[in-house]
Amino acid sequence: VVVSPPDTEGVALLVAWAAANDLTVRLRGGGSNVVGAGQAPANVILSTENLVDVVEFDEISQVITVGAGTEGGRLEAHLASLGFTLGHYPQSLNLSTVGGWIAMRATGTYSAYFGGIEHLLCGATVVLASGDVVRIAPRPRASGGLDALSLLCGSEGSFGVVTEASLRVSRIFDESRTCVAVRDFAAGLNLARDIAQSGLPLGLVRLSNAAESQALNSSLLDHGRECLLIVTALGPRSVVDAAQTEINQLATAAGARLLDVSAGDMWFASRYADADLMASRNAQPGTMFDTFEVALPWRTVVDAAIALERMAREVSEPFYLHASHVYPTGTCLYGLLHLSESDDGAVIKRWRVIWAQVLDIVACHGGTLSHHHGIGAVRAGRYRQTPEGRLHQLIAGALDKSGVLATSLIDNDRRRNGIVREMPSVPLRGEC
Ligand SMILES: Cc1cc2nc3c(=O)[nH]c(=O)nc-3n(C[C@H](O)[C@H](O)[C@H](O)COP(=O)(O)OP(=O)(O)OC[C@H]3O[C@@H](n4cnc5c(N)ncnc54)[C@H](O)[C@@H]3O)c2cc1C
Repeated sequence: VVVSPPDTEGVALLVAWAAANDLTVRLRGGGSNVVGAGQAPANVILSTENLVDVVEFDEISQVITVGAGTEGGRLEAHLASLGFTLGHYPQSLNLSTVGGWIAMRATGTYSAYFGGIEHLLCGATVVLASGDVVRIAPRPRASGGLDALSLLCGSEGSFGVVTEASLRVSRIFDESRTCVAVRDFAAGLNLARDIAQSGLPLGLVRLSNAAESQALNSSLLDHGRECLLIVTALGPRSVVDAAQTEINQLATAAGARLLDVSAGDMWFASRYADADLMASRNAQPGTMFDTFEVALPWRTVVDAAIALERMAREVSEPFYLHASHVYPTGTCLYGLLHLSESDDGAVIKRWRVIWAQVLDIVACHGGTLSHHHGIGAVRAGRYRQTPEGRLHQLIAGALDKSGVLATSLIDNDRRRNGIVREMPSVPLRGEC
């Protein structure tokens, strides 16, 4: 049964009714997550498709409050008509919703400037598993005590249903673009680190490995080795012009070759995905297209990238890897796998092995399980073993004792049998 309540009160009634009748509810936004977050079995699917109102726009504080089912592209178009932007541009902008972004801790391509959704969320209305409604008014920062908004980010529907979200918006700034060719991926990572730590107002920072660089721009790069780095800066004109000069100097000092800015055109032209991208790339029997994204510290990212490329070279043709979403302390590495076997059964078997290898390599280099796609069914087993995964089970168990909210992240059988609630001591130190 799919139910699409019209408002928060409708969501609360539905969830309370499900709880009273020992039924389970799974949430659905745009359905664009790529980690099996919508696979948990449930009696009712609660679609947020009708929660699409613009509740309030506070132009003075630069905060917009919208229904959680609002699709990204529509929100961005609405803001553009007012002279603003959210600055959150996932490749799935036109496929995903505000509630899904919060639930999956999503990140857009200009995260160096705007941060992930956790930096934009400044208020929310949430329906808990009991049917109780919690409203957190928009604020510049949480007061002391618990920051409930940060708890919601990455909760994957396990703590409650987000029905409305207040988001920080920005004025539309000027932008400068720099494109450079670096001699290889390792040199590019070192340059990206230098730029990320420079204090400049960066927007997009994206370094492609040689295979992906060729696909993006074969004419301007030396075949097989050189990598394309695209960097933009945001702000008032004088600031972005100065930033561009600095970026050019950092690149030249690192031995990179400055390219015409049109070298990035293909990436910009294809930055948003078509609705059928995943389906069409997986249509051929025996082939599989999948992606992984993880965060690594700068100290180990070069070694991790070398190990990932060595592993994937044997199994993925082609294997695209890029570094995007930079931070002063590290970066996201994002891999695109193109697998091919005799039939679907064989390719799925291969895919499972590769996923385990990827996560092992990343863990050995001090990286995270994911960066912005979330945990979902794909990574739930490993996540539950981590300190944060264990805490997550405990909090979800306390907020939703009977397991009304179905999510792949939480082991509902264990929760219903009381096993999660009975875990008295949580080892809080990280395990290697
Ligand atoms: C081609 C493609 C490109 C992508 N690019 C990016 C990218 O650049 N950056 C990025 O971060 N992600 C990306 N994604 C992944 C995906 O778009 C994100 O995970 C997105 O946040 C999911 O939003 P959704 O509305 O589709 O959520 P859904 O897939 O419908 O749901 C995902 C999870 O969120 C929960 N949920 C949904 N709505 C609510 C709510 N209102 N309250 C509480 N929980 C809720 C559900 O229970 C589920 O567990 C991409 C996906 C595709 C297919």
